[in-house]
Amino acid sequence: MKKIIIAIDGYSSTGKSTIAKRLANALEYGFIDTGAMYRAVTLFALNNGWIIDKKVNTEALLLELPNIQLKFVPNTELGKSEMYLNGTNVETKIRKMEVSENVSQIAIIKEVREKLVALQQEMGLEKGIVMDGRDIGTVVFPDAELKIFMTASPKTRANRRYKELLDRGDQVTFDEVLKNVRERDYIDSNREISPLKRASDAIEFDNSDMGLDDQFERIYNYTLRVIDKS
Ligand code: C5P
Repeated sequence: MKKIIIAIDGYSSTGKSTIAKRLANALEYGFIDTGAMYRAVTLFALNNGWIIDKKVNTEALLLELPNIQLKFVPNTELGKSEMYLNGTNVETKIRKMEVSENVSQIAIIKEVREKLVALQQEMGLEKGIVMDGRDIGTVVFPDAELKIFMTASPKTRANRRYKELLDRGDQVTFDEVLKNVRERDYIDSNREISPLKRASDAIEFDNSDMGLDDQFERIYNYTLRVIDKS
């Protein structure tokens, strides 16, 4: 069967990664969570003290940018890949609130985007990949055979993220999470370079009132039809 590229974009906490991962498993495709890459660069900047009060020391970051190594390493026990930053597993750290609160400021930097987009395009060279993010269908793979744009109400999304963080033992309040979701929506949608927007040929999918299995079923069946026609 012909392999295609599946681009899943959308707002934060719409469940993009969960659906993308399931889709990749079912199709035996690779899965790339591009948000993890922006998060890892953010963690690197935070660790170096280059983000204070949400202001990034861009000059210092850009000097080190060529030396930042990002790698997805498969964890066979967990059945998923984990993000490694300069050889260290940072999968847990990049999901923390501190990273979420600063990542959109890092994602507006042109040079950061250029580096990460080039890496993402390399990962998709052989096709057979499901990639999720904000600019996959518009910038990274504008010719992707299947593009999905996921949305849900801010409150639904904040609720999902809040539960996720509590399950991990993080100390956060619902209001903090909701504020972060809204802030990221705003910055991601209004930035100058590659703002978050639906590609004209993407299918919009609002999953505010839909369970995971139902969502997956619909997207999977649709994907099979697209692969069939490709
Ligand atoms: O997907 P996730 O919520 O982990 O992404 C974290 C942040 O990374 C987003 O809010 C956005 O600022 C940035 N991002 C991006 N482009 C992508 C993926 C993520 O700008 N392709």
